[in-house]
Amino acid sequence: MRVHADQEKCCGAGSCVLSAPDVFDQREEDGIVIVLDAQPPAELHEAVREAAAICPAAAISVS
Ligand code: SF4
Repeated sequence: MRVHADQEKCCGAGSCVLSAPDVFDQREEDGIVIVLDAQPPAELHEAVREAAAICPAAAISVS
């Protein structure tokens, strides 16, 4: 799995960080998403998919 987060789309809602804190974080200054682990291990895939599904800005994609 490869994780991509579009910082242009992100509105800083932070729900991805709640779903998968090992994979996503937010920039301190403005809350925009940071991908901590672009190739997360299998046990995190479900949490990443959930994060992508609930992101209000549809900023997260997985391939
Ligand atoms: S859930 Fe979406 S909008 Fe919210 S911080 Fe994460 S990527 Fe950004």
